[in-house]
Amino acid sequence: MLMIGLTGGIGSGKSVAAARLAHHGAVVIDADRLAREVVEPGTEGLREVVAAFGTRVCRPDGSLDRPALGEIVFGDPAARARLEQIIHPRVRARTAQLAAEAAPDAIVVNDVPLLVEVGLAPTYHLVVVVRAAEQTRIGRLVRDRGMTATQAEQRIRAQAGDARREAAADVLLDNDADLATLHAAVDTLWRERLLPYERNVRERLPVRLTEARLVAPDPDWPAQFTRLAARIRHALRPAEIRVDHVGSTAVPGLPARDVIDIQVGVGSMAEADAVADRLAEAGFPRYPGQWWDNPRFPTDADRWEKRLHGSADPGRPVNLHVRVVGSPGWRYALLMRDHLRADPEQRSAYLRLKQRLVATSPDVDAYAAGKEPWFDREHERAEAWAAATGWRP
Ligand code: ATP
Repeated sequence: MLMIGLTGGIGSGKSVAAARLAHHGAVVIDADRLAREVVEPGTEGLREVVAAFGTRVCRPDGSLDRPALGEIVFGDPAARARLEQIIHPRVRARTAQLAAEAAPDAIVVNDVPLLVEVGLAPTYHLVVVVRAAEQTRIGRLVRDRGMTATQAEQRIRAQAGDARREAAADVLLDNDADLATLHAAVDTLWRERLLPYERNVRERLPVRLTEARLVAPDPDWPAQFTRLAARIRHALRPAEIRVDHVGSTAVPGLPARDVIDIQVGVGSMAEADAVADRLAEAGFPRYPGQWWDNPRFPTDADRWEKRLHGSADPGRPVNLHVRVVGSPGWRYALLMRDHLRADPEQRSAYLRLKQRLVATSPDVDAYAAGKEPWFDREHERAEAWAAATGWRP
């Protein structure tokens, strides 16, 4: 099963996107609707709301008087928090129940207006944000929802700003043009990313970028790492796991293969094996076989063992290295990164090597093997740099 978080500011077109995803077969769970259902007449939720705020929030027919409740919590953060403590856990429980009832190969879309505000982003395989310019949204809310422009503006101000919401987005859907344009973007997302992503999670297939091709450094790589790391930490909670951005995409300004290297630090290889299933379910299936890093390995005993996972998301290739915290391989990945960040000459030398290799290597395995001798030498230079600067991992 694939869990997608869908959000967007009021009037952005979130519901249109959700409806289009449902048309393709997604199971849509609408948080707003659940938030109403959990306080319907006769529910435990309504009883708690009345116990907290008094019968003044009830209509004569026993249903919730939303405007009255709204007036109480509006501008009173404590009252609002109290209301959320009643509603949110019930919505979460109901969401989990509906998701559990979906088919094993379902693509579940959780439509949550306040997804970013509530901090839910790391709980999904992917977060999709629908965005539209403020003027477009105000225009739609006035036209379709009977709001005045001022009301629409107030509602927009009460939500997280666009920048914060968009920082949580793995996929941004622009909805400033017509409906057909949004539908087409959703169709492509469904076909090219969600369908294969779901299958890869279910069948535990990492997406492997076999082509040895360098791309220009993407200033968004660190933000992408941050979102992936939050997802990994969420999958491995409550353990406090160290997750680091390593490899070339962690070195600003360095062209690289478009693969984000992530290092997850564990206490032992047994722990690495114990977390493998959770990583796979979160969208990071493990590569079968044995993996090790060995800049120099005079004997087998010197091999630095690790576990290697990839990403099930065809839109974001990842190499996820699980290494023992404090082990030579773990330390080396951090040392290499920091040395390359600190030393422009090493960076250019490494880039020249990579460029030469992509020109001559038929595939990614030959490319990786070609880097080894350079890394052996770089290891010594990096250690000298560490000794001279007092570097610590
Ligand atoms: P809310 O947060 O209030 O639920 P929303 O993000 O779900 O808002 P929608 O209901 O999907 O927003 O869209 C707001 C209004 O704008 C709707 O009436 C919808 O039909 C209309 N709309 C959405 N996208 C477009 C578009 N591309 N062109 C024209 N109208 C649109």
